[in-house]
Amino acid sequence: MALYDKTAHELHELLTAKKISATELTADVFARVDEVEDKIGAYLTITRDKATADAKLVDDKIARGEEIAPLEGIPCAVKDNICTKGIRTTCASKILENFIPPYDATAYKKLSAQNPILIGKTNLDEFAMGGSTENSAFHVTRNPHNLERVPGGSSGGSAAAVAGGEAIFSLGSDTGGSIRQPASFCGVVGFKPTYGRVSRYGLVAFASSLDQIGSFTRDVTDCALVLNAICGQDDMDSTSTAAQVPDFTKALVADVKGLKIGLPKEYFVKGIDAEVETAIHNVAKKFESLGAEIVDVSLPHTEYAISTYYLIAPAEAATNLERYDGVSYGARVDGADVVEMMTNTRTEKFGAEVKRRIMIGNYALSAGYYDAYYLKALKVRTLIQKDFTDAFKNLDLILTPTTPNAAFKLGEMTSDPLTMYLQDICTVPVNIAGLPGVSIPCGFTNDKLPLGFQLIGKALDEATILRAAFAYESNL
Ligand code: GLN
Repeated sequence: MALYDKTAHELHELLTAKKISATELTADVFARVDEVEDKIGAYLTITRDKATADAKLVDDKIARGEEIAPLEGIPCAVKDNICTKGIRTTCASKILENFIPPYDATAYKKLSAQNPILIGKTNLDEFAMGGSTENSAFHVTRNPHNLERVPGGSSGGSAAAVAGGEAIFSLGSDTGGSIRQPASFCGVVGFKPTYGRVSRYGLVAFASSLDQIGSFTRDVTDCALVLNAICGQDDMDSTSTAAQVPDFTKALVADVKGLKIGLPKEYFVKGIDAEVETAIHNVAKKFESLGAEIVDVSLPHTEYAISTYYLIAPAEAATNLERYDGVSYGARVDGADVVEMMTNTRTEKFGAEVKRRIMIGNYALSAGYYDAYYLKALKVRTLIQKDFTDAFKNLDLILTPTTPNAAFKLGEMTSDPLTMYLQDICTVPVNIAGLPGVSIPCGFTNDKLPLGFQLIGKALDEATILRAAFAYESNL
């Protein structure tokens, strides 16, 4: 097996045993990037010089006989809405095309303390709005399993980089499914931690009450290692939680005996592909055979989750995106006066989907409509949260499909935003409730497209999700 195809923990062993060097490993990943990036298009910026220099520093450290951290010297990628000091961070938008952040996002800073090797910044739907990465202002990303298909989104570049051998692991962000859905489409592990587990400082804001940074990895062990690196309270983000962060590798026990896993009937309705449904029921059987108890459960307000999300997220986005006014930072298109300058800037530099969200958001927030739309959505949000609180009184985990179908074709949904929004049915409730969720690969369709299942946990109980996911993976 080529080095670029291995997991971080396997590569860590090879590095510490001096069987490979970080320089060799980095060169191997770049050789892979050179081979496939033209076809996949996972990256917006490639940081080859920095990577080469950083790998040398890791090798010097190993040569001095010093111990290295679990992710030290491991090639990784970071979604291009996570600020990296001195490295262009575009959000796949023309408005930030030349933005070079003067600071690191906390999650990236914490990760960097372990000296992984940054290969580059990955493509996304503009400002993380979308589910296919086709809304990038720069180029599309293709699914490494089938180049005619989308990788999912919005973290499509981060998922495709890991699936295509262009990085060993990556960071993404998940506001309504943007880690779990592309992980499912690309056949990798994608984890969205509890809201507040990872600092959002330096994550370019889309919908602040829903946004959360998380990981893409090739297996569950790597997932625990990345979570260990990025979780924790941060003074720079007052919504980050003070809850203690456990060592997530301690949760990697291949045993689900006695765990109660709920199957919510509302996630198996019309519109879910038959192949997906069969795959999830097989996963449930697998858990049962390993000693877990599978129970039916109801999350009655699920049917309102999409409408609730597509009011709250655009409302917050409309507010967050006010800052791109051609003045503070980002692009400027001149005009006769300041109003014309701002209008020209935003008209020319935002893409169609971003404008659509800003319009929906401002409409929902406007006087006269606020009560009917935004306030109503907040009330329904409480009901959706309560569904989960009630269900979890009697359960450890909830098992659902990650997506209603496998990866769709490029261009298949671009002209129909509503159909695209409906893709998020299984993932948005988790963000609305602020809970942790993972997507784990569970086989392929007849067309050889990856499928994934979602495990949802109680708030701050990432450990039980990891335990069950590890048990599943270990018993394949
Ligand atoms: N697909 C969803 C949207 O378009 C989710 C995006 C995300 O999680 N960033 O808003």
